[in-house]
Amino acid sequence: MELLLPKPICSLVNCDDLENLDAESALSEMRKEQEVFILLPDVYAYRYDFRRLSPSVINDFEYCPRLLWVQYKLGLKLFTKNSAVSLVRGRLLHERYERAISDFDNVVTEYKIEVGELVGVVDVVIKRGREYIPVEVKTGMATKEAHRKQLQIYIYLLKARYGYLVYRNRVERVERDDSAVELLANIKKILSMDKPPEARCSSCPFMAICKNLN
Ligand code: SF4
Repeated sequence: MELLLPKPICSLVNCDDLENLDAESALSEMRKEQEVFILLPDVYAYRYDFRRLSPSVINDFEYCPRLLWVQYKLGLKLFTKNSAVSLVRGRLLHERYERAISDFDNVVTEYKIEVGELVGVVDVVIKRGREYIPVEVKTGMATKEAHRKQLQIYIYLLKARYGYLVYRNRVERVERDDSAVELLANIKKILSMDKPPEARCSSCPFMAICKNLN
């Protein structure tokens, strides 16, 4: 059986049971999979490979390049207690969706692409003849520019013409735009710096950790 168009997440898998997840349950769910460190009363962390080109890396870079640098040097992804819920909900929905969609004969999940020293892992690739169409699964409610940029990088790397962003209740087609590739170069530059980039603070939950790293 071949997949022609990806379906929204909640039309393929159960999403309802994750609606009432609270921060404490999310943290204990995370602890089943990895060690979770408490760095400050409301700042937690887990080990993370920053060479993996994820929306989280792109988001952190856009929020503050120094945040990306600090986390890369520590080898830790920092998060607040409140964000644990969306992290865990996202991970569980990803796993369910990828399991369900891998029943199709023309689908590959977790498709790896080397990008120099970075690694892109496309959630789903649909094979249509010689064309490989990237599909990224996004479990938050809003479309973020980081989602489009990450997908456009994959579209470029797979030499595709377009790709799809799959959300809980809709699917968005994204056209190729090679200008997103500039972002890759900027992220690589930050990760290769010996000294941290300029601070960009207004208010930030990670300030106590960040200011100690120079
Ligand atoms: S404290 Fe400031 S410089 Fe550090 S990560 Fe937060 S915003 Fe960036």
